[in-house]
Amino acid sequence: MGVLGLQGDVREHLRAVRECGLDSVLVRRAEELAEVDALILPGGESTTMSRLLVAFDLMEPLRVRLAEGMPAYGSCAGMILLCRKILDGRPDQRQLAVLDAVVRRNAFGRQVDSFEADLDFVGILNGPVRAVFIRAPWVEQVGSDVEVLARVPEVAAAGSAAGRIVAIRQGSVLATAFHPELTGDRRVHQLFCEMVTSPVGCK
Ligand code: GLN
Repeated sequence: MGVLGLQGDVREHLRAVRECGLDSVLVRRAEELAEVDALILPGGESTTMSRLLVAFDLMEPLRVRLAEGMPAYGSCAGMILLCRKILDGRPDQRQLAVLDAVVRRNAFGRQVDSFEADLDFVGILNGPVRAVFIRAPWVEQVGSDVEVLARVPEVAAAGSAAGRIVAIRQGSVLATAFHPELTGDRRVHQLFCEMVTSPVGCK
């Protein structure tokens, strides 16, 4: 399993994958991308990552691998990169556009830098997932092939984020607006590892 290592919380994802029992390697060059069977796009800053993907000649090879069906998981900035359309993005920001979803960048509001909530997550058993949102996006629209896996709970503290879509899956591509790599709970990474090792059920 590869972790895109251009920017962001790369080490946390490398460790989370290892704790799920799979090897994880850093991907910074096209030759390294060619060696991996799946890729995690970490949290960080999607505008910077978009620029670095171009600068490192990774944008096109990554598009090709995704089009061929390579499983991918994006958290936060990674989610933004995977979606078809970005609201409140920068004009020069590019998308990988493998998720038929419209995502709003920094959606939780400029003044709210971080927010935490317990989410019910489709396909994850044994209780809610503690979600850490850091200048996070949310998803405003999904196509019919996209499964909604989690929403912000309808609690007063969530304000305008209540009910917003924050985890989605389309076939072999998974995305969360939050950062499971920052908590000790490995169930989201485990779900992705299972999508890679036993892809039964992928649309
Ligand atoms: N706000 C960031 C962006 O637009 C994402 C933040 C994150 O990944 N924690 O890319």
